[in-house]
Amino acid sequence: MDMQTSFLDRLFESGLLIDTGVDGLYGRSGQFEDVITAFERLIDKFGGADGAEAMRFPPGMNRALFEKSGYMKSFPQLAGTVHSFCGSELDHMNLLQCMEVGDDWTEGQQATDIVLTPAACYPLYPTIAKRGNLPAKGGLFDLQSYCFRHEPSKDPARQQLFRMREYVCMGTESHVTDFRQRWMDRGVEMMKQVGLKVVIDVANDPFFGRGGKMMVNNQRDQNLKFELLIPITSAAKPTACMSFNYHQDSFGLKWDLNLEDGSVAHTACVGFGLERIALALFHHHGLDVTEWPANVRKTLWG
Ligand code: ATP
Ligand code: ZN
Ligand code: MG
Repeated sequence: MDMQTSFLDRLFESGLLIDTGVDGLYGRSGQFEDVITAFERLIDKFGGADGAEAMRFPPGMNRALFEKSGYMKSFPQLAGTVHSFCGSELDHMNLLQCMEVGDDWTEGQQATDIVLTPAACYPLYPTIAKRGNLPAKGGLFDLQSYCFRHEPSKDPARQQLFRMREYVCMGTESHVTDFRQRWMDRGVEMMKQVGLKVVIDVANDPFFGRGGKMMVNNQRDQNLKFELLIPITSAAKPTACMSFNYHQDSFGLKWDLNLEDGSVAHTACVGFGLERIALALFHHHGLDVTEWPANVRKTLWG
């Protein structure tokens, strides 16, 4: 049995994660949720004075806006769409017949107006663009959402439905890159306060296909994405628990996000993988939170 399976098995045995029969789709115990709640309080403590506008979207987003985002160009392999039965009574009888004999009953399902949210910030950009030009101080937003990515895995840190807490900044190039740097420094400090050793490294998104290679190279060459990495299931390949993305003016152009003077906004977002952070804590300090180092418990629960 490899290491990944055994950490997942220990999480199941302890009840922290609850097996649903699908890789990457787990229930969470009250204790697991309590760690996430406590860590989110720590995020609030570090970010609270910045005056971000909080918004919470459900884990599904407007399909038309998702199409406009270009997600299917870059990450078709990860997307999840919501389909429903929209047929007649006769179609219904055929559907039940299909299920009865074990045929594919999903063929007749039709796409709804909703797709699963791939990252917490996706519903934000069109929402803010609708308001008109940004105010002189730019925009700063606090988001949290369940996100879906079709990447089934035995690695408990790679889930298909997981929560992302994000801060998103809109403004001039220097405004948003300062924001990103501030959160890299804060991320390192926060993890230190909960007893986790981290490294920060340049990274890339998994752009699909041969054309994606160019996007990957461009993203890395221009330092557009950094990750804060913590070993969870592998010491050799530590896991991204935070990411720090600078989109230049690409989202500003796409969504028509403009500054007070009408120039195109630059944007950056900082994401916390909440399940990954909880798993890093359980991995490093043990599955029993009462045994965690006193200073870590104090940081999280006062
Ligand atoms: P990875 O390289 O590990 O796939 P990513 O680059 O896809 O991560 P982002 O797209 O930047 O990650 O998402 C923001 C944050 O959400 C990540 O830093 C990570 O903490 C978390 N995250 C991403 N994918 C998953 C997943 N499948 N399960 C749990 N958390 C995830
Ligand atoms: Zn984002
Ligand atoms: Mg990924």
